[in-house]
Amino acid sequence: MADIRVLPQSVADKIAAGEVCERPSSVCKELVENSIDAGADKISVEIKSGGIKYIRVTDNGCGISKEFAETAFLRHATSKLTEIDDLESLSTMGFRGEALASICSVARVELITKTKDEEMGTHLVIEGGIKKEKDEIVCNEGTTMVVEDLFKNIPARMKFMKKDSTEAGYVADTLSRIALAKPSVSIELISDGKTVFKTTGDGNISNAVLKVYGVECAKSLLEVDFEQNGIKVRGVIGKPEIARGNRTRQTLFVNERYIKNHVVSKIVEEAYKNSIMTGRFPFFVLGIIISPKLVDVNVHPAKTEVKFAYEKEVYDAVYYGVKNALFREDEKPKLNKELTFEKRMAESFPKPVQMSMTFAPKRENVLRDVVKTEPLSKPVQSKKQDTLDIDMKKFTEKYLEHTIPPKDLTEKAVEKNAEEIKEQEVVQEIKIEEEKMPRKIIGQLFDTYILYQQGEEAYLVDQHAAHERMRFEKLLKQRKQKISFSQGLLVPVVLDLDPSERVLLAENMEFFSEYGFEIEDFGGGSFIVRSTPVIGSDKEIISLVFEILEILKGNKKGGIMSLEERTLDTIACKYAIKANKKLSFAEMEDLLKGLDELLEKGITTCPHGRPIKVSLSKYELEKMFKRVV
Ligand code: ADP
Ligand code: MG
Repeated sequence: MADIRVLPQSVADKIAAGEVCERPSSVCKELVENSIDAGADKISVEIKSGGIKYIRVTDNGCGISKEFAETAFLRHATSKLTEIDDLESLSTMGFRGEALASICSVARVELITKTKDEEMGTHLVIEGGIKKEKDEIVCNEGTTMVVEDLFKNIPARMKFMKKDSTEAGYVADTLSRIALAKPSVSIELISDGKTVFKTTGDGNISNAVLKVYGVECAKSLLEVDFEQNGIKVRGVIGKPEIARGNRTRQTLFVNERYIKNHVVSKIVEEAYKNSIMTGRFPFFVLGIIISPKLVDVNVHPAKTEVKFAYEKEVYDAVYYGVKNALFREDEKPKLNKELTFEKRMAESFPKPVQMSMTFAPKRENVLRDVVKTEPLSKPVQSKKQDTLDIDMKKFTEKYLEHTIPPKDLTEKAVEKNAEEIKEQEVVQEIKIEEEKMPRKIIGQLFDTYILYQQGEEAYLVDQHAAHERMRFEKLLKQRKQKISFSQGLLVPVVLDLDPSERVLLAENMEFFSEYGFEIEDFGGGSFIVRSTPVIGSDKEIISLVFEILEILKGNKKGGIMSLEERTLDTIACKYAIKANKKLSFAEMEDLLKGLDELLEKGITTCPHGRPIKVSLSKYELEKMFKRVV
């Protein structure tokens, strides 16, 4: 690498200044990017306590010579840029020369490094920006940076740190994106002694996806390789069936630099239109390869945003690249080695599979689950959902229209109103009497609402809301009485988790066990679920764990519900009768009986506060049809 020089002020001033070490994940990002810039193809990152206590990044890159070891820590010292012209054709990850300077001003940094030409390596300790130690050391070629006690002496910054597990999750997320953007570099992350993931560095994106997201995801990839107007779009996208309820599994990089760009996300989603249900977001790891002259990476301090010179051309290339891949289903991306399922499983879940013979049935279960793919959700279906919602909205609007008291406030009108109110009171009294009349189920409306008649009143019950509330109340009661609702699974389920989710789950094992889950951490990123609160299909169990993780991440809004209520509600909701499900009369009868018990307790809404039941009286109908005035 070139010599490290302090940038002339004129160049330094043009560089977007900003915070590069906001939290452990940003420190890790800067250090790993430095390793990549140093030509390393093996990088190992170890963190303790979410990185707040300890971060170690070791690489096999070019190293820093003894002469420049201290210069590297000076502000605007860089070996990557000397003139402002260089800014326009940048290919390295770093270029501002401020990462090391910022990091060493807020932590204790230890550097161990050696270049190819040196006999002995250099050992340097800097604390609060001041050199504490410098000596020679015997070490391998490459660089190790150890960052300890981040923000220890800056309470104002420390305040912004989240729980260790949350910070560890951010680190895992950041590093997994870099690993996906750089499949030719092997990246390993160890958090509190456990390997979160380790990519092979063989240059194959599908293999990197396998290591980061697991086998189920890697199985459902389509390759994107497209070029138009000199703009290349490369990477992998997920088949519609692995779409998720959020955008966390979307990774975009420009010239191998991870960036965030909502427009590109939207464009990819647009290409998936009609293949994916509304509210689901496609998986993708896509790289845009474009002349560095046509991208400005200097718009954001963390370098996570870019500006394109020819936006439309870029967006078109992304759109057609994705669209083509989606409709060329038969050309699947190949994993580098022709891996059999057995081998792939063994790679992905090293310990459980290889441990003992008794594990065989569980593995079969995983295989079965991998092979079995859900049918494509047809566009027609999602449309149906839309129109259904709209119809219901219209229905409620219409209904409200007829129940809202008239706004006419002339004396006559008010008088008339008073009469009406009196009349309604009479009706109300009769209604109470009629509640006890026999119930006649008319049937189901839109496969979602049970319609029944009782005396002079018609009722519509939201089958999902009703069942969800019943299950919720039952779970709440069991929890209060300390009755365990754990149920052993005949065949355990294997979880494929994102690196950040692995950390979060490992931290919250006790929480999960409180709610009836028995989950075992097998290390190497795999988890086995042995018991769950309620028996369900593998798919349901997996999505239940994901949803609870979302709650723990703080992503799932629960209004006024407590953590306990939200968790119980998620469990209740998972196995409750869904909307759009045909019910037999016996099933409807059963559901309404259960509902009676809720109503006796005065419960009339689902846990989120939506009504379970609405009514329409014969009198109101007659008014609507102008049979009465
Ligand atoms: P920048 O990456 O923007 O140049 P940094 O403060 O991150 O600025 O790093 C300063 C300089 O230190 C780099 O330009 C590089 O020459 C050197 N350096 C930092 N980390 C490494 C590493 N892991 N291996 C080799 N050189 C490194
Ligand atoms: Mg750097």
